[in-house]
Amino acid sequence: MPDLAFLNGQIIRIEDAFVSIEDRGYQFGDAVYEFIESFDFHIFCLDEHLRRLQCSMEQIDFPTISFSDLKNQIINLFTLSEYKRAGCYLQVSRGVEPRAHSYTNKVSPQVTMTIKNLAHLDPGVNTKGIGIRTCEDYRWGMCHVKTVQLLPAALEQHKAKKAGLADTVFISKEGYVREGTCTNIFMIKNNILITHPLDNHILPGITRDVIINRICKKEKIAVQEQYYDINEFYNGDEAFLCSTVMKIQPIIEVDGKKIGTGAPGPLTKKIQAFYDQLIYHL
Ligand code: PLP
Repeated sequence: MPDLAFLNGQIIRIEDAFVSIEDRGYQFGDAVYEFIESFDFHIFCLDEHLRRLQCSMEQIDFPTISFSDLKNQIINLFTLSEYKRAGCYLQVSRGVEPRAHSYTNKVSPQVTMTIKNLAHLDPGVNTKGIGIRTCEDYRWGMCHVKTVQLLPAALEQHKAKKAGLADTVFISKEGYVREGTCTNIFMIKNNILITHPLDNHILPGITRDVIINRICKKEKIAVQEQYYDINEFYNGDEAFLCSTVMKIQPIIEVDGKKIGTGAPGPLTKKIQAFYDQLIYHL
């Protein structure tokens, strides 16, 4: 099977899938999205992704859709692809109507998906660690909503890549460490995982939630969801980024400064191993 697209109920080849120039996602960034992966034919955290999608849609006043139908359509797309290891990008826009800032909510939201083979991605954990940079958080005030308005994230990830780094982490005006361009972030001090609490300044990451509520709870690893600033971060023992796509990436350098010993730390390695077991059902 080739990579496939889903466009409002139809499954077609990606090259044949087009949306209207008057789609509000295209003209206003008036759309939300999810990225969902499968491992060994199992879709990971599908219900969690659907719940977050529903929250995102509610937060920005979208008309509702049938999430049970959508769930079946997602499962069907994964099944049809026959990919053992796949990634599904799902986008819901407010729909297509003549361009005007205000909206009617009288047209149906437009649901599009693509499914691609991820077999080429290295399934192994990152044992070397990554370097990151930071910048002031200049994004909007609703970062808990997973919208497609990703220009600050795109610009800052590009700067990181150009500098040979894995990501940029946004720091608030007051100095609090928020999250990466497409990742959440944890620091570790005295064997306690510390991460920004859920509020309007960060995305409630599915991976973040799996780490806190499935791995750390079960393994009795202490977690504190609290604000911490960049100086505390520089002085942490360990740190890591996490996301659906990046899994768990040990941070060994921030803004040119070494974190801890400058190598992936023991607790980060433990969390990497537990996460790997979870996604591959070992
Ligand atoms: N934070 C931001 C800003 C993101 O865009 C993402 C993923 O796209 C994440 C965190 C990680 O979320 P998840 O673990 O659900 O992939």
